[in-house]
Amino acid sequence: MKGRILIIEDEEKLARFIELELSHEGYQVHKCTDGRTGLDRALAESYDLILLDIMLPGLNGMEVLRRLKMEKDTPVILLTARDSVMDKVAGLDGGAVDYITKPFAIEELLARIRVCLKLRRPSTEAAEPGFREGQLVWQKLVLDEPRRQVFWEDSAIQLTNREFLMLQTLLENRDIVLSRESLLERVCGYDYLGDTNIVDVYVRHLRAKIDEIFHVNMIQTVRGVGYVIRSE
Ligand code: CA
Repeated sequence: MKGRILIIEDEEKLARFIELELSHEGYQVHKCTDGRTGLDRALAESYDLILLDIMLPGLNGMEVLRRLKMEKDTPVILLTARDSVMDKVAGLDGGAVDYITKPFAIEELLARIRVCLKLRRPSTEAAEPGFREGQLVWQKLVLDEPRRQVFWEDSAIQLTNREFLMLQTLLENRDIVLSRESLLERVCGYDYLGDTNIVDVYVRHLRAKIDEIFHVNMIQTVRGVGYVIRSE
């Protein structure tokens, strides 16, 4: 058994679909279709992860999250509607580890679940050499978030704000193929209604500043889907 997951989602068809897919992947899955039942179950039982819809009858998802977090630290991934900007921000502030925007590809949800469960497992391996808090490392590249700096070994790489955000997003979601839409949303803001080709432009800039200079193939294109940075 890979883990116990609770789905709190009132759209029966969607809840059933997620339940089937997750069971198929080997997770033990329970589902609730309203907030109050979901919260009771989340508090009464032990889960590795909760998938929580925001618009719910009974108690809404934000209230479920708030009450859950007062008692437990079970990780929560929010299922949000595309237009609910404030919900996403409030959800992450309220202690959710991640969110996924509906409609989503099941592969993206599965990848986010894997990442989330992996983060929970205390690693017995030593941290990567030179690793410090707030740093993301890939091969010889170090992205230092608090200092907003990027280095390849000792060479500083000058990035614009959005290039930095794009690289950070890709590094944080390593091994997850991110769609142009989700990259655009994270880099340009939730309410940005621009062309997703912008994402291709930033990727080109990053490749020119990193891949081409240091002879690596860091940002990979997944045709028809988006971009990914893979662990070595
Ligand atoms: Ca709903």
